[in-house]
Amino acid sequence: MTAKIISGKELSQAIKADINKKVNLLAKKFRAPCLAVILVGEDLASQVYVRNKVKACEGCGITSILEKLPEETPEEILLEKIEQFNNDDSIDGILVQLPLPKHISESKVIEQISVKKDVDGFSLENVGALCTGMPGFKACTPYGVMKMLESTAINLTGKHALIIGRSNIVGKPMALMLLEKNATVTIAHSKTVNLAELGRDADILVAAVGKANFVKKDMVKPGAIVIDVGINRGTDGKLCGDVDFEEVKEVAGYITPVPGGVGPMTITMLLQNTLEAAELKSIKEQGN
Ligand code: NDP
Repeated sequence: MTAKIISGKELSQAIKADINKKVNLLAKKFRAPCLAVILVGEDLASQVYVRNKVKACEGCGITSILEKLPEETPEEILLEKIEQFNNDDSIDGILVQLPLPKHISESKVIEQISVKKDVDGFSLENVGALCTGMPGFKACTPYGVMKMLESTAINLTGKHALIIGRSNIVGKPMALMLLEKNATVTIAHSKTVNLAELGRDADILVAAVGKANFVKKDMVKPGAIVIDVGINRGTDGKLCGDVDFEEVKEVAGYITPVPGGVGPMTITMLLQNTLEAAELKSIKEQGN
């Protein structure tokens, strides 16, 4: 069997076209949505991510503000900058690129962002909303994965989903979103003892480990949907995921590639959240 490819690149283009239409409508009756991005320090990967996010905003007609702060920026200056953006009515979404330099508390920074502008969906309130099935901004990566699963038109009810990884930004919100769709969810982590066995029982396998080619074909149930969140450099220096794509594609029913899989979807869901933030603001201020 050769798995069908779920292309995040193609799906994200379709979703972005829809976002662009909605942005244009909103721009006519209110104004274009605006995302403020804060980058602290010189981390190379973060610079690339931020550049891609700003570019994606432009592509969809979303205005963006990029605030670059030096590595040694004191925590209170960053918190003040966020507060300034919180109080700026022309800004709908605020994103602080992680990771932050060691002397800055990530949790303090996340909590400083107004819940209404937390388009990354990382705040305690938005996580709580996800946990209790209330409306709120959803973390972009698992939100994008849900859209990829939706694109297969496979009903998730009663399916066994295995998530490998329990981070706050991927694994845990992923579990909650799958639970919301009535999947039976298992979360595995570095202390899990029977990972391959769990994998062979999973109809859906989401890998968010951060280890190149970690998921091998003997960990995958024939016909399963395999979603690869990982972004790693392989020994050849090329980008690769957490799933050994070449061997797993022979077993899985569906598989996502790296690059061109979950990555573009993450950025797209950030745009979606920013649009929603602006739409909510428009309703609040104009009643429509
Ligand atoms: P973290 O490092 O925060 O989490 C990794 C998780 O993997 C941890 O829960 C860890 O377990 C678990 N793990 C590590 N080793 C094993 C093992 N041998 N067996 C089972 N579980 C293991 O990473 P993130 O969640 O932030 O990211 C995961 C990957 O996804 C990275 O490659 C990252 O670059 C990528 N990523 C991609 C995004 C995208 O847009 N495509 C967005 C965000 C992340 P434990 O908790 O016990 O330590």
